[in-house]
Amino acid sequence: MSEQDHHHVDRDEEATFSINRRRFLQGSSGALLAAGALGPAFAHAAASGEGSARSGGRQASNGQTFDFGNGATAPEGISSVPASATGRPMPTLDQYDPVAPDERLGWAVVGLGDFALNQILPAFANSTHSRLAGLVSGNADKARQIAQQYGVAESGIYSYDNFDEISDNDDIDIVYIILPNALHEEFTVRGAQAGKHVLCEKPMAPTVEACQRMIEACRDNDRKLMIAYREQFEPHNLAAIKAIREGMVGDVNLLSVNAGVSLDPEAPSAQWRLNKALAGGGSLYDIGIYALNASRYLLGEEPTQVFARIHSREDDPRFAQVEDNVAFQLIFPNGAVANCTSSYSTPKNNEASVFGTKAWLRMAPLSNYYNHWLIVDDGNQRIEPSIQEISQFAAEMDHLSRCVQDDTAPHASGEEGMQDVRIIRAIYESAATGEMVSIESDYERDPNLLIADSPNLPDVWQQSDS
Ligand code: NDP
Repeated sequence: MSEQDHHHVDRDEEATFSINRRRFLQGSSGALLAAGALGPAFAHAAASGEGSARSGGRQASNGQTFDFGNGATAPEGISSVPASATGRPMPTLDQYDPVAPDERLGWAVVGLGDFALNQILPAFANSTHSRLAGLVSGNADKARQIAQQYGVAESGIYSYDNFDEISDNDDIDIVYIILPNALHEEFTVRGAQAGKHVLCEKPMAPTVEACQRMIEACRDNDRKLMIAYREQFEPHNLAAIKAIREGMVGDVNLLSVNAGVSLDPEAPSAQWRLNKALAGGGSLYDIGIYALNASRYLLGEEPTQVFARIHSREDDPRFAQVEDNVAFQLIFPNGAVANCTSSYSTPKNNEASVFGTKAWLRMAPLSNYYNHWLIVDDGNQRIEPSIQEISQFAAEMDHLSRCVQDDTAPHASGEEGMQDVRIIRAIYESAATGEMVSIESDYERDPNLLIADSPNLPDVWQQSDS
């Protein structure tokens, strides 16, 4: 079923659910209430201005009401605005107030590939605390062209060879490493040694040892290190975490989290992905990591054991070096089990289902760039909160900028990235040995960290007063 189909079904079922939702919500005593059948829609409409535009009528400055052609008129006595052009109060802002350009931190993007050019550079337009100040590329012509398009000074352009000279550029505070996985370590270490804070793409690095060296380099140079887990800043994911933490679905026993894509070997960005020396591994490092990371942040716990199987067709030349299909099972301390998959041989999909004793929760997509979808269903009634999409890319960059400005620790730390790599290595070991593998780690993170002070957490649930 396509995403559009999902929404179509929900609209058809709306009449039934709107009658029953309140009972479902009030029935979950002590748990969360959605803002009600009307609440989310009104909240969204108020924020977007849709409510007033659709109400039909407005009152003219002379006190008369007039309509917009659909026959609806505003009731008398509502506040009026003059018919002539006039200034109005500051609207409610959906994000932080943007700070002035000279108060934003300067960022250099390292590696001008598909993801950097299509998602990250445009996202600076949505950021409030970050600005593009540098480009690092092995292709000087491309870098110059992009610099012109985005207004980056010639002095902000670097190659991989002269990257270390970035230490002399006071206009650049943070480097964002968007290179093939096996190059993350070198450029994180060189960036930190050049005095820059680092945002590094996922997966952090192919090995735990490389992750450790990255963490140490940033620590030794007193620089912040963050791993680019954009979904940890995405509102649907944050709303799901909050629903789970506050008992809306009850005790969680099972999760099912999947990530797949059909990898075209001809695509330029597939070249290094099919090369083990550059990618570290196959679908697991690239997209299975979304299923792994989501299992951890949705449950707010760290798995203690893993069991896995890997299957790649021998007649598929794409998988001469890296794996295709991975099925892995994560066992959590409270007994919960997450069944996860990753694949390079399915049409694009990413989804999470969380099964609790009171209700189940589903996100599909879970980790798209846009168009997320979240529902909670208790078997009888369903809630689909209205959540505004944001630029996750701008949100994660602004998070790091603010951490640097406020001298606080990033939510998605180097240790967080290393934990995924540690578990990925255990998944490979289990698949190779056929045995359940214990995960040796004392890493832990406050389960409420991501929702405790996030400006991106939507206000879609409220406590039941019944
Ligand atoms: P691309 O192949 O499109 O881009 C990689 C860029 O890295 C190249 O364009 C090139 O930039 C530079 N590069 C330097 N050395 C090499 C090399 N030996 N081989 C290939 N490229 C090289 O990859 P993506 O943009 O898709 O992925 C880059 C990183 O971003 C990966 O770590 C990936 O996991 C991550 N990613 C994260 C996503 C997310 O949603 N968080 C989504 C997609 C990717 P130049 O020509 O400028 O030198």
